[in-house]
Amino acid sequence: MPWTLRVPLLADESLSSWLTRAALRQGCDPLALTGAIWPGWRVWTRDVDRDIPPTRLRPLVKESGIPAPEFQQAALRGDCERINGHPLPEHGTWPWLLALGARNRARHGGQQCCPLCLDQDAAPYFRRAWRLSWHVGCPLHGVLLTDACPACQAPIEPHRLVAEDQHLSQCSRCRFDWRNIACTPLASDTLRFQQHADEVLQANPIFLGDKGVSTTEWFAASSFLLGVVRRASRYPASALAHTLRSLGIPVTDSLLPVTGLPFELLPVSERSALLTAVQRVLDIGLDEVFEAFRRNEVMATALHDPRIPPPGVIRSMMTNGSTHQKNPRSSLPLGHQPKSERAVRAAWARLKRRMKTETS
Ligand SMILES: [Zn+2]
Ligand SMILES: [Zn+2]
Repeated sequence: MPWTLRVPLLADESLSSWLTRAALRQGCDPLALTGAIWPGWRVWTRDVDRDIPPTRLRPLVKESGIPAPEFQQAALRGDCERINGHPLPEHGTWPWLLALGARNRARHGGQQCCPLCLDQDAAPYFRRAWRLSWHVGCPLHGVLLTDACPACQAPIEPHRLVAEDQHLSQCSRCRFDWRNIACTPLASDTLRFQQHADEVLQANPIFLGDKGVSTTEWFAASSFLLGVVRRASRYPASALAHTLRSLGIPVTDSLLPVTGLPFELLPVSERSALLTAVQRVLDIGLDEVFEAFRRNEVMATALHDPRIPPPGVIRSMMTNGSTHQKNPRSSLPLGHQPKSERAVRAAWARLKRRMKTETS
């Protein structure tokens, strides 16, 4: 039977946000609402933001009065498959989508929000983009997204709210209202990767240096670069780390996630630091960075796990010129001297100039 109180999907709203809001609006718990729509289907044990399978859509359309295409557009599957370039499986982590780490209805993380956006909303709701792993800040408010309750450190789990809670901008464990928290301001540099990646998702082809690449190739190259930055931080005395530092790219402990987890499982602060470093690599230009790797005899095996071949666009850059692919050494011998201070200053000045041009 259709609901008496219609709840439209809001602009860029995630499916889990809408389901939770719809339940609270009908005066019931999210679990009770979904149990009534789909008896026997435990929707909250899966990542409902990814999609609602077509076979499950009919009762939802009937009760909510919202046409099926709106639910399909709100699902993240389409964007994620475009990024990855192939159909994604039901289970397992999807590259570039934050992983919920779901265990029954409980989560380990994977949901972010901007408390200032929630504060502005007439009815607080969660945006689709807050589930994407390259989203680390709010461009409207210039603050770092929040990925855990600042009062009790619990992950953000709106689906565990109950009917009495009435709105989504609160912790489901301690009921702290997030609209009252002080947010971390963002450096202007931090959002550049995020905004560029958003554009890449919409445009195809896109330029990576002077090469036209597809959305899938661009994200694959960015994943590769994330791996390079993480490896350089893990081995600070390596030729790779020396080279990145000589180009003005900070390779420090702060880029080394303490847990060593995959990117999609990292907290927002760690993802933000990694993406800022990757954006600097992109600012300098991949051709120039790979040229510096060759100059400093950085071995190809130092850049990536040899069991995982690099994406095609990176492979072509690695094979240009005299790449050191044959030698299995992964770094220069100990005692290798970093570049002179003058060379470092010159590279840094070039980088700053380029960044100024791009932002002006
Ligand atoms: Zn915001
Ligand atoms: Zn809390």
